[in-house]
Amino acid sequence: MRAAIIERPGEIRIGTVPDPEPGPGEVVVRVGACGICGTDLRIADGEFPPTPYPIVPGHEFAGEVVALGAGVPETTGLREGSRVAVDPSLFCGRCEFCKLGRGNLCSNWNAIGDTVNGAFAEYVAVPAANAYPLPGHVSYREAALIEPVSCAVHGIHRLLPRLGDSFLIVGAGTMGLLLLQLALRGGASRVAVADLNPHRLELATRLGASETARDVRELREREPLGFDCAIDATGAARAIEQAFDAVRRGGKLMVFGVAPREARVSLSPFRIYNDEITVLGSMAVLHSFGPAVDLVASGAIDTGLMLTEALPLEGFPRALEMVRHGEGVKTQVLPNG
Ligand SMILES: [Zn+2]
Ligand SMILES: [Zn+2]
Repeated sequence: MRAAIIERPGEIRIGTVPDPEPGPGEVVVRVGACGICGTDLRIADGEFPPTPYPIVPGHEFAGEVVALGAGVPETTGLREGSRVAVDPSLFCGRCEFCKLGRGNLCSNWNAIGDTVNGAFAEYVAVPAANAYPLPGHVSYREAALIEPVSCAVHGIHRLLPRLGDSFLIVGAGTMGLLLLQLALRGGASRVAVADLNPHRLELATRLGASETARDVRELREREPLGFDCAIDATGAARAIEQAFDAVRRGGKLMVFGVAPREARVSLSPFRIYNDEITVLGSMAVLHSFGPAVDLVASGAIDTGLMLTEALPLEGFPRALEMVRHGEGVKTQVLPNG
């Protein structure tokens, strides 16, 4: 089959690899659409430590089941022709964290497209348990958005906002715009959004942002008491510090964006103490894929606005450059045309 292969950091090839065979408990999915994100860029650049090379990346995908391995239980409802979205998480199920129900923190963490071959290919083998059947009205392109939605759902599950909370979201890329929609859906009274890119601010406004600005400090000035919930969706140290400064007394700061491992920020411990501020993180997907399927199916996400360009498999290097330069919102690859 045809696939996008990262041979080693910086070396990408569109070529042929053996077709995947379904192992016990697995199904093979003919990929309908696969989204590209910052993690793929880090994998291509050699900045995602768990990734072994060569690898076929691609962890945001949906498609059609074309083969079932031995022992796929009938209760999964999966058969040849089933339309599915796939949770890429591969938790070991045996470590201390998995046993506590926190599989996303698994000591032996793996994920399809990050540590084993993924979906920038015509076909991909996945555990049947990771495949979620799709309602007929959800297209593969829409369904390939479910994985980033499930990351945002986990973020909101972690944040536990209260009805009527005010929000600040720093960063209006795919994740910031998804968090905006979920915050509003979850009962935010208003959501202010900051981003350097004016086009993205315009999208945020169309999705219901109460106000937008290029500079967080400008939004902070308009909100004298600060925001109940501030989310950084950039991973930039300066943005995290500004988001922290914009948290209201008793409020919460969530670090959602991926910062470089060696990055450091300066936060006032006096404020954390005196203003009872909660600082928390959110990593990938946990018990949030099913809810994300339901949210996309019910129209909670404006997929028409989120999904921008779709490229053939040969366009994978171009798609990476689009992520690198912040072009479009969610770019996808359609490996089977
Ligand atoms: Zn992703
Ligand atoms: Zn584990």
